[in-house]
Parts: sequence; structure tokens; C-alpha cells
Amino acid sequence: MILGPLGCSSVKEENANSNKPHYVMVFDQNKCVGCGDCKVACNTANNLPEGQSRLLLEQQSGHVEGQKCPHCGKTDCGCERKYVRVSCQQCKNAPCVSVCPTGAAHRDPTTGIVTMDASKCAGCKYCIAACPYNARYINEATDVADNCDFCLNSKLAKGELPACVQQCRYDALIFGDINDPNSYVSRLLAVKDSVRIKSHFGTEPSLRYIPVVKLGV
Ligand code: SF4
Ligand code: SF4
Ligand code: SF4
Repeated sequence: MILGPLGCSSVKEENANSNKPHYVMVFDQNKCVGCGDCKVACNTANNLPEGQSRLLLEQQSGHVEGQKCPHCGKTDCGCERKYVRVSCQQCKNAPCVSVCPTGAAHRDPTTGIVTMDASKCAGCKYCIAACPYNARYINEATDVADNCDFCLNSKLAKGELPACVQQCRYDALIFGDINDPNSYVSRLLAVKDSVRIKSHFGTEPSLRYIPVVKLGV
């Protein structure tokens, strides 16, 4: 997954008049150090089997020629890194939900979050094929399709933030209701430029990315 001009769109608009929540997550590429604590926290909170995960961190080269590395202070060291979170984008127009023949992949009526009714999943994998973000997989322990659901049942139901957000020591993950103008996430996105990935598919992703800012280039 590449963050850049292609496939991304600026995010300024939002459906502020809606009475329902619209939960969004922001991944700040400037702050993520790639430690992987978010992934470990997710696996634990959601009881995922060994070797499977609801999110990945994709490493990209962040080296800017001629500039000092923010990690070691040298130029041309090659050790600068940047990361992209790869996970379910929580699409408002979710192809996985549209194609599911049983209603297993569905939108939670209260929160609007795309989640699963495991008891209904037939394991047909239509949703996996339909997801433009390769964000779904079959959980090997349950034989049921799965996606990041913002920890709907494991954390949000208890009034807690998603496990990955709680765990991140670098404040690279921010979560909240963008339809609440007073929420931190609303105020953040009002002043920070962010992008959505592959939004030209009309999926209206709820994951926002704040790309790395390259100063002086
Ligand atoms: S990213 Fe994929 S799994 Fe997530 S809501 Fe969109 S289509 Fe569904
Ligand atoms: S694998 Fe399960 S969730 Fe996915 S489309 Fe088939 S029945 Fe629906
Ligand atoms: S929001 Fe929850 S399910 Fe999604 S990646 Fe974070 S910890 Fe995992």
C-alpha cells in the first residue's frame, strides 16, 4: 500500500449533519516508528491465532537524499524508515458487506462499524475477493472471515479505545467520532491534511493517513 498522490484524496469534507456517529481512525505516518506494539495488542485483544493479524505495518523507504537522518543524525545513512498501516479501511460503502450472501459481513446498526456475525459466515470468501484493500482473511481458528472492526466487541463495547490505539506509545493512532465537532479527531482533521487510500473506488474509507512531511525539499 503506497501513500502518495496516486489513489489518495484530500480529506476536508465530512457528513457533519448526521446524528449518528462516524468512527474514524487516523494513522500518523510522521509518528509511527514501526515497533509493532499495535499488532501485538490487536492479536491479544481479539484472540487471533498465531501468525494471523488484522493489521500489518508495511515498511517504506523514507530516506531523503542529502538530509540528516532523524534517527542517527547522519546523511545518506539509509536507516530512515517510514511505515504504512495496512488494515480494514472501514468503508462507508463497503463491498464486503454488499457481496456477502448471508449477512455475516454487516454494518453494526448503532456504530456503523463493519463487523462480522460469525454464526452466519459460510466461508465462501466472496468478501475477501471483493475487498479492494486485501484487508480480509479467514481466521484459521474459527474458519470465519474477519476484519479490523475497530475492536467493536473487544474494547468499544466496554467503553475503551481500540487496543492498538491504547497501546501506541508514539500517538501515531487517533480514534474517535468525526461527526462530533468537539472530538479530538475532528479537531485534528480540521487542521491536518490527511489522505484516504483508493477513495476513487467510491468506498469512502474511514481510515485517514497523515503522510510524512518532508521539510526543505
Ligand atoms: S476495507 Fe475491505 S473489509 Fe474493510 S470495509 Fe472496506 S471492503 Fe470491507
Ligand atoms: S466468507 Fe462469510 S462473510 Fe465473507 S461473503 Fe462469505 S459468508 Fe459472507
Ligand atoms: S482497531 Fe482493534 S481490531 Fe482494528 S487493528 Fe486496532 S486493535 Fe486490531
